[in-house]
Amino acid sequence: MATRPMTTGSNRLNLLGQPQDRLEAFFAELGEKPFRARQVMQWIHQRGAERFEVMTDLSAQLRARLSEVAEIRLPSVVSEQVSVDGTVKWLFESGAGQAVESVFIPERRRGTLCISSQVGCALDCAFCATGAQGFNRNLTTAEIIGQVCHANRNLPRRPGNEEAVTNVVFMGMGEPLANYRNLLPALDLLLSDLAYGLSRRRVTVSTSGIVPHIERLGDDFNVSLAVSLHAPDNDLRDRLVPINRVHPIEQLLDACWRYAAKRSNRFITFEYVMLKGVNDSLACADQLAALLSNHPAKVNLIPFNPFPGSDFRRSSSDAIGYFQDRLRKRGVIATTRRTRGDDIDAACGQLAGKVSDRVRTRLSEKNKRIVTA
Ligand code: SAH
Ligand code: SF4
Repeated sequence: MATRPMTTGSNRLNLLGQPQDRLEAFFAELGEKPFRARQVMQWIHQRGAERFEVMTDLSAQLRARLSEVAEIRLPSVVSEQVSVDGTVKWLFESGAGQAVESVFIPERRRGTLCISSQVGCALDCAFCATGAQGFNRNLTTAEIIGQVCHANRNLPRRPGNEEAVTNVVFMGMGEPLANYRNLLPALDLLLSDLAYGLSRRRVTVSTSGIVPHIERLGDDFNVSLAVSLHAPDNDLRDRLVPINRVHPIEQLLDACWRYAAKRSNRFITFEYVMLKGVNDSLACADQLAALLSNHPAKVNLIPFNPFPGSDFRRSSSDAIGYFQDRLRKRGVIATTRRTRGDDIDAACGQLAGKVSDRVRTRLSEKNKRIVTA
């Protein structure tokens, strides 16, 4: 299995993926003051610098030294597609003929970038194109943050000269909590005022439910949390989201409520993919409401997005409407996700980088060897 991050063959340190503490340590090793790290972070993440030469508030000598030992390397773009609704999808090269995807969704009041955290995914959810492809490797922090950096550099700024990306969601390819080691510095950069300066509310980690890492995330960064629930009981969830066999619903929800308590009861979003005849009955809605009502929870219903080779079908819009109404009647906040970027296969669960020779490490094959960095 390929575990090596994409390199250019150079052994220079890629400063793109270094959060402040690591960058300060790097500058200390060069005999420089910590404020140099802060200047360089702003150049890279806020001022779009691609080379050290342009960093005119550093001495010529330091710039020359940096060019020898470090680099600013963004992931290479394989393709860019723009949907009729303005959604943009990029495919980034991730080594060995593999690719990961990011999707930018422009809205009047915000610009949301949906980013990937792994090449493929080992968790093998029954309805997910990424899961069907198997796992190849974790993205590095530079490859994760590079998606945001690339989007801001290539999209027009918003009114008021604001950066294009105002919100980041980890809902692209991969399970972010299974790549915890590289996720954490990426979150640090997203929240840092020297980099992207986003509030915790505007950064959402979506997870299929790796309970120990939900606990850790609550302590480490406490960003917004979305949980892919998809079923109201363990029998069904075991089949749809196999990680449930390791961390069943009761443990998952306990971890969610503890997480919410750490964020002074901010809501957890529960994603629920609507699969015709599988999890879309009113009885399921009642069971779901029983789990979530009286808790800081909101439900986001996602119409299933089909992909080649999948046997599931999307629930009818009537069924989705009745399900949503039932949840609301039982006191649960519920919305339905509008599908964007249909014409460019940019919708949830359709993200499947075109790849060759993917090495398959599926949960079903390697059972509990799932988790984590
Ligand atoms: N691995 C993380 C994040 C990536 S998936 C997770 O599972 O939460 C982002 C969301 O898309 C998840 O809620 C996932 O369950 C959902 N999804 C996956 N495949 C889908 C499909 N074919 N149609 C609709 N939603 C899908
Ligand atoms: Fe992985 Fe999320 Fe897809 Fe499940 S839904 S296979 S966890 S990417």
